[in-house]
Amino acid sequence: MSAAATISMTRIAPSAQIAIARHGWRAKCLQRLVRMDLPVPPSWAFDSGSVSAIANGHLPDQDMLRTIIAEGDGLVSIRPSALNPEWGGPGTVLNVGINDECHGALSKKLGKDAADALYLGLVQTYAVQVARLDPDMFTQDGPGALDDALRLYRDEMDEPFPQDPARQLAEVMRSMARAWDGPSARLLRQANGAPPVAPLGLVVQKMALALGPGLTGSGTIQFVDPVTGVHRITGRFRGQQHQNTKGAEAETLYLTRDERGPSLEDAAPEVFADLVRFGVAARERLREEMVIEFVLTDGQLAIIDAIRLQRSSRASVQIAVALARDGIIPEDEAVMRVEPRALSELLHYQVDPRAPRDIIGRGINASPGAATGRLVFSAAAAQAQASRGEPCVLVRRETLPEDIRGMHASVAVLTERGGTTSHAAVIARGMGLPCIVGATGISIDGRNRVLRAKGRIFSEGDQITIDGSSGEVLAGAAEMLEPALDDAFNQLLDWADAAQTLSVRANADTAEEAETALRFKAQGIGLCRTEHMFFNEARLPAMREMIFADTAEDRRMALQRLLPMQRDDFVSLFKLMAGRPVTIRLFDPPLHEFLPTDREALRELAFSLDLPLSDVTRRVEAMAEFNPMLGLRGVRLGITMPEIYEMQARAIFEATVIAGSKGDAVVPEIMIPLVSAMREVELVKTQVDSVAASVRNAMGKEFSYRLGVMVETPRAALRAGDIAPHSAFLSFGTNDLTQMTYGLSRDDAGRFMGSYVNQGVYEEDPFHILDQEGVGELLLLGAERARQAHPGITISICGEHGGNPESIDFCHRAGFDYVSCSPFRVPVARLAAAQASI
Ligand code: PEP
Ligand code: MG
Repeated sequence: MSAAATISMTRIAPSAQIAIARHGWRAKCLQRLVRMDLPVPPSWAFDSGSVSAIANGHLPDQDMLRTIIAEGDGLVSIRPSALNPEWGGPGTVLNVGINDECHGALSKKLGKDAADALYLGLVQTYAVQVARLDPDMFTQDGPGALDDALRLYRDEMDEPFPQDPARQLAEVMRSMARAWDGPSARLLRQANGAPPVAPLGLVVQKMALALGPGLTGSGTIQFVDPVTGVHRITGRFRGQQHQNTKGAEAETLYLTRDERGPSLEDAAPEVFADLVRFGVAARERLREEMVIEFVLTDGQLAIIDAIRLQRSSRASVQIAVALARDGIIPEDEAVMRVEPRALSELLHYQVDPRAPRDIIGRGINASPGAATGRLVFSAAAAQAQASRGEPCVLVRRETLPEDIRGMHASVAVLTERGGTTSHAAVIARGMGLPCIVGATGISIDGRNRVLRAKGRIFSEGDQITIDGSSGEVLAGAAEMLEPALDDAFNQLLDWADAAQTLSVRANADTAEEAETALRFKAQGIGLCRTEHMFFNEARLPAMREMIFADTAEDRRMALQRLLPMQRDDFVSLFKLMAGRPVTIRLFDPPLHEFLPTDREALRELAFSLDLPLSDVTRRVEAMAEFNPMLGLRGVRLGITMPEIYEMQARAIFEATVIAGSKGDAVVPEIMIPLVSAMREVELVKTQVDSVAASVRNAMGKEFSYRLGVMVETPRAALRAGDIAPHSAFLSFGTNDLTQMTYGLSRDDAGRFMGSYVNQGVYEEDPFHILDQEGVGELLLLGAERARQAHPGITISICGEHGGNPESIDFCHRAGFDYVSCSPFRVPVARLAAAQASI
């Protein structure tokens, strides 16, 4: 080992060259406090180059260390100073420099117990961290513990505890530098976003001793509530030998005046006022909400450190907005400071992070927010509970279209199966219902109406809580925080909108969803899935009649019954959206999704259609497909049974005239799903044009519309150059496009996705975060070919990825015009779009 010229130290002074990149955030933060003239004890920074040299066996120059010890008046602390405070680092080591001589002097000054405690603290840490001795041997405290620890050290190491303070300091620094390079520290910081190679600086500081007579002790103070973000001074002060008014010893003081006990504010009003003043100054200078760590020695204040306040999502919004409103940071910076995902927590009730959780299972956090309700195992039971005004949680192995009514009646949904784009997940997100899918460790026995988890049994009527933000299923009712759609939330999003260039629309099928979309300031509807309009009691019979029709004429008659209902749907959507764009997707799913499967329901159907049960059963079976997602659906249905799209086009155009005559002009956007060939677009376009002409004629009103294509098959992306000239817009349906690019069923992927992601086969669930390398390449290629063939064509994305911040950033870089996502994800998307633009 040798002393090396590469090791240098810098006294943290106002004019010193201290840089975050070299010395880490703590060193820089302390320098700022020093520049503000706060009473910071003498401190020194070692840069990351020096620290890695130390880790590699070079020892700092002994004379250099002796300067520290001399000025440090005996004892110093050593703290890590990484580039980013979130990356953690080795624990602080205190009392470095104490030896027998110093211990003797301190005993005289502070008393033996206090001096023993200081010395023992270092011996224990040093024995474990530097000498790597067994931690179990060094846990004792109290009388005699110091002598025992020194003896144990000598016995184990064959030498006495090092008495040279400079050697102690060098060895502690080396142990911290090496701990930073160890595998567990590396894994931990990488989990917090650190790169594989992350520099570490170290800060050495003269100890301000929290021991001795008078008002002496250590504490922290913070100025904002870390959960709610409201201004409130909290903290604690652990006093030593402090005498309160009654003369008794008081251990801990509250900071502000508090009826629960004595406070620092009362005990030392000037100190308290200084702390508050320092807090205000630190906030302005450090441009952050900080926690200040301080020591009082006989009434003398020392500020030893300041760290960024750890905060909840709602507090992060409050703090960023308050900093910008106070002119401390620019508005754009406030927009950049809030994690977009954090916003989705604010839209819903949340389980209070401070409250206990009785976790009985975990699954995929498919739709955020939390709710407590009574367990129900069927849609009918959910409706019955809801009609009694009892909140309920619908629990199913997986949900089917006919469960929608039950979902509407529930406060949350839990399914044993499914992934992020399964039926339950998509519908729940649309409705803003907390939802967990693919729950592991939970088994649902719908027949006996029990749920088994962790060896416990829960029956219908028992209370459970679904935390759709974390994916945790909790037994019983949990304590909740209310949604926080407050002034700060709205202000942040208004600033975001001013910065964004990519617009945000919502996927909304109903007037209720459209209202939510408007509340969250979506700029239009990017996807209205019309088939969801047929899944209600009034419409299902006509729908089934249409499906069972033998001839085109019979089909047309059944559709004629659906026409006015569809028209009303569109009129109310157009009116609500008041001239904003509304993209209506023509009918998409395979028809058998509208048919029952169990015998009782089939018999019911036979009755209503006036057909023999055997006939109905045979027809239903004949309609089954080996791979329904790749069969007769989307535009394929539109072409083989043109009456369906004809009815929908008519309903859209009639609604256009009706809504347009009373309010803002309506220019509907009609979108064709599951296209794979240009000819499909030509055929549908001819048909839709002719319906438009007929409605213009019949109603005597002019209107225009835009026809576009949903790019959901790899072939449509590849042939976008052929398709674009016939289309006013292209919208990438990345749910199906991901399914087809991977050849991976979106409804079944949940079964093994966890294992695939854990083993690193996929970095992320591609149904959740856009696969930029594969599916993303199809998006780029499709957009480029489309623009070449049709400059000015509108390009967007409307799969679930439209609400995902990383995917939104991709769409921004690709120059898309808008993203469309579930209404409750609109705020997240607005913030992410702004961050991509800034
Ligand atoms: C898609 O496939 O991306 C899409 C939005 O359509 P759906 O989820 O209805 O299949
Ligand atoms: Mg689709």
